[in-house]
Amino acid sequence: MTPDLRIKDGVILRAAHFRHHMIEIHLAALKTAPPTTDDSVWVTDAWRPTDFLPSLHARCLAFDYRCRNINALSEQSREDKGRAWAVRMRDELGDDYDVVAHGVLDTFHIHAEFDPR
Ligand SMILES: [Zn+2]
Repeated sequence: MTPDLRIKDGVILRAAHFRHHMIEIHLAALKTAPPTTDDSVWVTDAWRPTDFLPSLHARCLAFDYRCRNINALSEQSREDKGRAWAVRMRDELGDDYDVVAHGVLDTFHIHAEFDPR
């Protein structure tokens, strides 16, 4: 359990991000986060316009979370812990959500979205 949720400068939150099914994503992130260097879970992206790739970020249905503050002795270990975090979040949230850890080095992060089918 990590007590603090912090929002990176410049991240755009819209009213739709405060709906129950989106708040659940933050709660799952905090509940399942690995130890971090600053005892915080950081939201690094929320709304962004549709660009080349269609994304649920444009529909206020996704959040990104920082992985580079995960306590680890190596980059490999940090990525392993990030991937394990994504699995725990997915288990916590259930089938209406998708959670992945992706990107390379500095861009490696958790992407979590509400996508019921
Ligand atoms: Zn994302």
